[in-house]
Amino acid sequence: MKTPSSHCPECEGRSLFRTTTASGGGYGPVLLPGLGRLMRTAEFTVVVCADCGLTRFYASADARSQLGGARRWQRCQA
Ligand SMILES: [Zn+2]
Repeated sequence: MKTPSSHCPECEGRSLFRTTTASGGGYGPVLLPGLGRLMRTAEFTVVVCADCGLTRFYASADARSQLGGARRWQRCQA
């Protein structure tokens, strides 16, 4: 996955680490409701800055492709 930038938007640091994780399951909330597939919640790519700790979550391409037709999501108005 391509991240939006190669540096931290908070501190300009370049020690960024990323992983992927489910957006819900177990006893926690589902953070991307309605965007998963059968028996599987949607995934996030998580990017953490090792310098300041800023943590960013990016919905997977598959999850984003479903936003337009998802009943639980409304487009934000400018
Ligand atoms: Zn940072």
